Amino acid sequence: MICPCGCRKLLHMNLMDDYDPYWNYILDGKVISLAPSINRLVGCKSHFFVTNGKIEWC
Ligand SMILES: [Zn+2]
Repeated sequence: MICPCGCRKLLHMNLMDDYDPYWNYILDGKVISLAPSINRLVGCKSHFFVTNGKIEWC
């Protein structure tokens, strides 16, 4: 996904639990929820949740 803050960085969230870190996801139709939150430690340092396809800033 593209970082929602507007910095246009491409973010990769690993969904395979063979590799760390990874995110749990729930796909409900076309809307996705991710857990835990996405916390960028570099660049824009955005911290947000993806819940029901929407960004929730921390
Ligand atoms: Zn950003």
